[in-house]
Amino acid sequence: MVMTKNAVTVKDLTVRYGEILALSGVNLSIPKGSRTAIVGPNGAGKSTLFKAILGLEKSQGSREILGQTVNLDKVIEQSIAYIPQASDVNWQFPATVYEIVMMGRFAKIKGWFKKASARDKEIVQRALATMALEDLQERQIDQLSGGQRQRVFIARALAQEADIYMMDEPLAGVDIQTEKIIMDTLKGFQEEGKTSIVIHHDLHSLATYFDHLIWVNKGLVDAGPIEEVLTTENYQRAYHTDQEMVSWIASGQEEV
Ligand code: ADP
Ligand code: MG
Repeated sequence: MVMTKNAVTVKDLTVRYGEILALSGVNLSIPKGSRTAIVGPNGAGKSTLFKAILGLEKSQGSREILGQTVNLDKVIEQSIAYIPQASDVNWQFPATVYEIVMMGRFAKIKGWFKKASARDKEIVQRALATMALEDLQERQIDQLSGGQRQRVFIARALAQEADIYMMDEPLAGVDIQTEKIIMDTLKGFQEEGKTSIVIHHDLHSLATYFDHLIWVNKGLVDAGPIEEVLTTENYQRAYHTDQEMVSWIASGQEEV
């Protein structure tokens, strides 16, 4: 890995879907080893930002990943684990929990004839255990609850042993125990110098779970260390509201 202080940097990133300008002129850096949250209202372009960084959607502008600007597909394959938004996934895909988690190893298994090694199997079992999925490993994924599916995807990402984990709303539909397992996992990643980038929908828990924050609304609103950018002004600009964030959090109102 190239020595650099940022996991991801984008410059002047712009994404269009036909006539729709989904993201315009985004400049940002995500520090290596951070737990970064991305927030913004529905349709703000959060998932689009992920897909543009990963090269899954065509964009204009430049991307740098772990200090690299060329052969990004290879860098991404080797160093990024991506968990898409659950609604973007075809859950009818015929596969068991074990098979999905083993897919996390495939990027690392080189050569046409190479089979999963004992080490691959051990890593998969460890990932299943971490996500409390051992008893479900033979189950087809279309027979799981939303929270169980989310745990399968996290387990697959764990098995991948990536440097950067990009998760699109990983807590959507999960119970409180699972939320804790996932967030403890991110803390563990940080202790290993790995980077987590998480699209997050619950503004109340931002300060608990993250140390870096990006506000998005069809472009960049603000980004920085959480203690500097978790402000009412940014909340109002990103969500087009005149609510006070402090009173809103204090009153325990539901997210808009
Ligand atoms: P978010 O994840 O913040 O809710 P998205 O990135 O999914 O937002 O979407 C941003 C905007 O781009 C929305 O207006 C959405 O309707 C539009 N969009 C997203 N994906 C596509 C697509 N594949 N084709 C056309 N428009 C899209
Ligand atoms: Mg989204």
